[in-house]
Amino acid sequence: MDTKILKIIEDNIDENLINEAVDKIKSGGLVAFPTETVYGLGANGFDESAAKKIFIAKGRPQDNPLILHVSSIDQVEELVMKIPEVAKKCMEKFWPGPLTILLKKSDKVSSIITAGLNTVAIRMPENKIALELIKKSNIPIAAPSANTSGRPSPTSAKHVIEDLNGKVDIIIDGGNAGIGLESTVLDLSGEIPMILRPGGITKEDLIKIIPNIEVDFAIIKEDENIVPKSPGQKYRHYAPKSEMIVYNGEVRNIVETISVKTKEYISNGKIVGIICTDETKEFYKEGIVISMGSRKDKKTIAHNLFNTLRLFDEENVDIILGEGVDFSFLGTAIMNRMMKASGGKIIEV
Ligand code: AMP
Ligand code: MG
Repeated sequence: MDTKILKIIEDNIDENLINEAVDKIKSGGLVAFPTETVYGLGANGFDESAAKKIFIAKGRPQDNPLILHVSSIDQVEELVMKIPEVAKKCMEKFWPGPLTILLKKSDKVSSIITAGLNTVAIRMPENKIALELIKKSNIPIAAPSANTSGRPSPTSAKHVIEDLNGKVDIIIDGGNAGIGLESTVLDLSGEIPMILRPGGITKEDLIKIIPNIEVDFAIIKEDENIVPKSPGQKYRHYAPKSEMIVYNGEVRNIVETISVKTKEYISNGKIVGIICTDETKEFYKEGIVISMGSRKDKKTIAHNLFNTLRLFDEENVDIILGEGVDFSFLGTAIMNRMMKASGGKIIEV
């Protein structure tokens, strides 16, 4: 398949180009598009055969459900049994934005989308290209991240092209994704409101509206005896090609341990990549060192994480040694992705 790249500027959307993408979605094709979290791979959410194509293009396991993207709160009505008061409040406060809400699904939503579950995940993205695409298509757009399953999520069109060129109809190049991590998945379908995946909207943000909110323990601790409530959290995810180990604890201990380990690996002939922070960068004398930003600025760290993992793939490193961060605010989402990327290899030092 020939993949067409459409360059669209968010603040000056070309009518003809967006219409071309809309037509492709309506006729059952696949269109990758930018959102504020990461790039999404979109298809008509009411077209089962289009949705099936998403799983094939990504190599996504069938049991991992898709998020439906809407451009208005009204659009949610027909997709769910009912919208509880707390869900409405969250939509009004955080949409458009990086919050995905799980509710009991209506009959209109195919079980292909929900992977057989009786809940559906819905979000309104905060990106003008994405919103225009959904609005003009006049249907919910099913869209997981636009990467090959298991690889780091794409934060630029370049990443999407790396993974999906030749496998999708259109890739919209709309610049870099601002947040750089996927949305928070919040389950409001049952008795207990629960965060199933940490993301751009933090627990600290949500607790103001939902004082009794809980966090699925599986998202911060990898343990084979704990089954995550969100199917996507089961898999080794966001993973670079090489092995990765993350060290967390006192910053001084992290730097010391990574330095010692780097020396060891290099003396065994390995190429070592180090993911560090601005505060620690100068202490590393060996290895390929990339800082994700300042420890005081988790937004920047979140923004750079997936790109950094892909950069190390390009460098063909044998092992990545990464610095962990504390779990406050975006720290939970960052550490969740690092946990998944490393296959749970987080070592306290
Ligand atoms: P992605 O869009 O690739 O970032 O993945 C969407 C995430 O939302 C995955 O982790 C899914 O498992 C999760 N998700 C989507 N729908 C549901 C659902 N009905 N119940 C639980 N998790 C869901
Ligand atoms: Mg994904």
